[in-house]
Amino acid sequence: MPAQLLDGKKVAQQLRERLREARATLGSRPVRLVSVEIGQNPAAAVYVRNQQRAALEVGIDMEVTNLPLGTKESELVARIGELNRRPEVAGILVQRPLPPGIDPRAVQSAIDPHKDVEGMHPANMGAILYREPLLPPCTAAAAQHLILATGLDLRGAETVVVGHSEIVGKPIAVLLLHHLSTVTVCHIGTRKLVDHTRRADILVVAVGKAGLIHGDMIKPGACVIDVGINQGADGRITGDVDFASTSPVAGYLTPVPGGVGPVTVAMLLRNTLRAAGIAI
Ligand code: NAD
Repeated sequence: MPAQLLDGKKVAQQLRERLREARATLGSRPVRLVSVEIGQNPAAAVYVRNQQRAALEVGIDMEVTNLPLGTKESELVARIGELNRRPEVAGILVQRPLPPGIDPRAVQSAIDPHKDVEGMHPANMGAILYREPLLPPCTAAAAQHLILATGLDLRGAETVVVGHSEIVGKPIAVLLLHHLSTVTVCHIGTRKLVDHTRRADILVVAVGKAGLIHGDMIKPGACVIDVGINQGADGRITGDVDFASTSPVAGYLTPVPGGVGPVTVAMLLRNTLRAAGIAI
């Protein structure tokens, strides 16, 4: 039997409906999310439009600011400082990739942690270790949400996260650890990846290498969450998991596109409502 598809578009739609109801409790008080981008990257433009559409649906005003190419780090940080001081701005989002010469960590750290809707300020990152993530990193929260949506019992489950980046792999590992699953983190230094992936009840892959994981690396019935986004020479978007060989083996599988991505956007909006003071 093929894996049950974890339809991120549907899950995100359900989340947005819940968010819209929660947002309505604030009445006519505006909730504003400001997106800051340097230059105009065509790939990012699609992503920003999707974010704007989703924000509108939930009742969040998303203001998009494009700073000129050549903007210096100090100028970007100064702009963020202005946004930090604007009381009607609930959330600040800095679009990536940032041009060379701008340190993403310095920029993220300049955002008021209460407005850091991407959940990447060191204060929010640190809070997840204490199980107090008011604003958790969006992609990690999305992966967690999709896993919980299966209804699987995470306690004691063998969980393998492939990828140990600050924004994706590490926070996912920590969030899943809080459910008392037994978490192994694999990365570029891992000697024999297959030995780990084959014993995973839950496998989360966040690497950025198309087809890194094949069906013969999967434990039958496993829940496989593919975070990777890779663009082929033909422009097609694929994940890190080979869908054709994995689907007959896995129990649950996220498609790419249409898996983790849309849920990540919904999590950004959830964080924005939280930043606006709504308990959701
Ligand atoms: P990154 O480049 O910062 O980290 C890559 C990780 O993969 C590192 O931990 C590295 O050690 C590991 N790695 C590299 N080669 C490996 C190998 N052969 N075997 C095992 N591990 C290996 O990337 P990132 O920012 O964490 O993003 C990972 C992927 O997730 C990318 O494709 C990115 O586009 C995607 N992404 C998706 C979303 C979403 O919303 N769906 C959000 C963020 C990132």
